[in-house]
Amino acid sequence: MRNICPLCNGLYEIKYKCKICNSPMEDKGAKVNYMDSYSPYLLDDISHLADGVARDKCVHIYYCPQCHRNAQCFIERKEF
Ligand SMILES: [Zn+2]
Ligand SMILES: [Zn+2]
Repeated sequence: MRNICPLCNGLYEIKYKCKICNSPMEDKGAKVNYMDSYSPYLLDDISHLADGVARDKCVHIYYCPQCHRNAQCFIERKEF
């Protein structure tokens, strides 16, 4: 058995609402997919997470089309 992220594997969608305007946000994918183009600051952030929450959580970037704002959501990995 292994823990996988249901969003990354297309099993189902998890909807988040924007904290500011309450609009449905769009899943922009796992944060690790952004590593290539992001700054060293965020790379540090990711390696920090790898020591803690990231083992059983997959960090996704959600985007609010109303506020043009990104948010991080921690998606729980499930056993399959
Ligand atoms: Zn994921
Ligand atoms: Zn919003």
